[in-house]
Amino acid sequence: MTISHVDGYLRKIMSDCADDRAGEVADYIPELAAVDPDGYGLSVAMHDGYLYSLGDSGTAFTIQSVSKPLTYAMALSRLGPTEVDAKIGVEPSGEAFNQISVDSRRRPKNAMINAGAIVASSLLLPPVREVDPEVVEKTFEEILAFYSACAGRQLTLNHDVFESEAATGSRNRAIAYMLDSFGGLDTHPDAAIALYFRQCAIEVTTDDLAVMGTTIACGGANPRTGRRVFSQEVAQRLLSVMTTCGMYDAAGDWVTAVGMPAKSGVGGGILAVLPGQLGIGVYSPRLDEHGNSVRGIQTCEQLSSNLGLHMFNVT
Ligand code: GLU
Repeated sequence: MTISHVDGYLRKIMSDCADDRAGEVADYIPELAAVDPDGYGLSVAMHDGYLYSLGDSGTAFTIQSVSKPLTYAMALSRLGPTEVDAKIGVEPSGEAFNQISVDSRRRPKNAMINAGAIVASSLLLPPVREVDPEVVEKTFEEILAFYSACAGRQLTLNHDVFESEAATGSRNRAIAYMLDSFGGLDTHPDAAIALYFRQCAIEVTTDDLAVMGTTIACGGANPRTGRRVFSQEVAQRLLSVMTTCGMYDAAGDWVTAVGMPAKSGVGGGILAVLPGQLGIGVYSPRLDEHGNSVRGIQTCEQLSSNLGLHMFNVT
């Protein structure tokens, strides 16, 4: 298929999905309610580095939970799987993203839900109980550098969204304190939360998500910059956990219909990966009851069926 063929397919898919206005923009983080609900962007980054960008592919939005696999990758890279697995499981929770889903060892069930993501953020901090804002800031800069290397460009923090979540995020604070009461955090819960809220407020575009996706697809090496960001072992782990746990409590429906490891965020972004082949970034901020982008899911379903991208495609 030529570049213009693929471009034509992508345009057609977007125009087929464009009229669906179902779902609601997230408003539990007040600043998220301020986005244009009609924004719609699609990017596909190929393993050779070629990037297709359509619609609002240049619109910045906050990464939210699409940050979770990246911070998990950082924790795995720094500490290794044994240390990370002692703190965070790899089982789907089947529950909403903001439930305190822990297993019999009181570990969060996986790193794609808030509880596991808060532990993953905490693992990047020095294991001390004191909250030092400078240490949190320095660790955030490291997270920003890691995400930027995955995207192949320098990313920045959306301060308004960060402040908005920090001012209203009682539930996530409660999760962090509960995890702490179980002995799940080596840092103060406030330090873990301060880092987690910051990582969720990093701004990206669908181009960024697609390039991050192809970095995972290519085993941790960004094909656009040639830079290795994490190992193939870490990439394999991410793909596994994204397949079983990436789409909140709708992971089974997603794998059946789309068949690609993915992660969604309440900012309206979805990052999907076809291992070895490509990364997809979609943005449309109206969400379904699980917190997944309605048009984002539809777009990925059509991409998967029209272009035969389901990873278990045997036809
Ligand atoms: N910052 C959001 C929260 O923790 C992220 C949720 C999401 O995107 O699923 O509530």
